[in-house]
Amino acid sequence: MHAENLDPASFVVAAGRPERTQGNPVNPPVVLTSTYVSTGVPVPGEPLYARIDNETWHPFEEALGALEKADGPALLFSSGMAAIAAAMSVVPAGGRLVIARHAYQVALGFAHDLGARYGVDVRLVDIDDTPAVIAALGEHADLLWVESPTNPMLEVADLPALIAAAHAAGALVGVDNTFATPLAQRPLELGADLVVHSVTKSLAGHSDVVLGALAASTAELRAQMHAYRTLHGSIAGPFEAWLALRGLRTLALRVERSQANTVELARRLATHPLVAEVRFPGLPGDPGHERAAAQMSGFGSLLGMRPRGGVEAADAVTRAVRLWTPATSLGGVESTLERRRRFQTESLTVPEDLVRMSVGIEAVEDLWEDIDQALRTAHP
Ligand SMILES: *Cc1c(COP(=O)(O)O)cnc(C)c1O
Repeated sequence: MHAENLDPASFVVAAGRPERTQGNPVNPPVVLTSTYVSTGVPVPGEPLYARIDNETWHPFEEALGALEKADGPALLFSSGMAAIAAAMSVVPAGGRLVIARHAYQVALGFAHDLGARYGVDVRLVDIDDTPAVIAALGEHADLLWVESPTNPMLEVADLPALIAAAHAAGALVGVDNTFATPLAQRPLELGADLVVHSVTKSLAGHSDVVLGALAASTAELRAQMHAYRTLHGSIAGPFEAWLALRGLRTLALRVERSQANTVELARRLATHPLVAEVRFPGLPGDPGHERAAAQMSGFGSLLGMRPRGGVEAADAVTRAVRLWTPATSLGGVESTLERRRRFQTESLTVPEDLVRMSVGIEAVEDLWEDIDQALRTAHP
């Protein structure tokens, strides 16, 4: 049996198991060590010190690398932000970084820090506006940073067009694939150079770890990212890596259920009398629908909702829910929601009354009843 030939739903279950020999455990162990027995001139690849490598990372890294169609295993990082910091290190001092205006707000904060400290020319773009992105790349750029769908606006980028334009301008392309997961979208297959994940979200899937990962299109780029991780020490703890692998086992099942729930809820909310607007690329009328249908094999489990009644109603909805959990973060088995502009740092182009909803795996009728009663409570 070759794992590469399996459907992803089977692959996530079968990947990264210890060898099938009599008496072997079916799960890999958690190896707790800071160092390895070693003498003489170190041979590359030989276990040496656990900041450089720890075999507990490997099953998850190999599985994610294969899912993302990367050149070699993915690399685990201590958080999604640590992986983003590594990816953005490809921009030299004084270089140019073109980034989605509605990228994850902390990724934007990191980009602005690069601008302030190293004179990086940071250009914010509406990532769904292809001509605007091409104009921002200009004659030469170093990195195009894409999220698609974006957090929290759910805009969809034309990935093949943007990747071609960025490469023509000499830029690498990094895609934050947290929202889509590799089951719904594989940017490296579309030509991107780097993919990052907040493993904290759907990959681990249970809101119990903070972890990140990065996958690269070439062995050289992977080696560069590995060197960055070793230099910066932004490594995963063995327990967290093991929990992420455990979460990955059920990824296909969770994604299937939460995506189906999201399609149904988006459809119903779109005609709810107390809802002004729904953003979800899975809705046929959504501005991002056609692109998403062309480059994704699912529409994700995030949606944006603007209730009637403005900020007050939006806040009231987040207080009135009983099954949905009012919390930041996303991609867990439990459904969560929040008004994004409650953060002072959120982009001012995000509507003040936008409620971002992350749909979990609960029964859809329970989720519907709860959000419906919350909308009514918010709007007596
Ligand atoms: C949460 C998130 C991140 C940051 O990941 P952490 O694991 O919290 O560091 C990056 N990108 C997106 C899209 C996210 O949702």
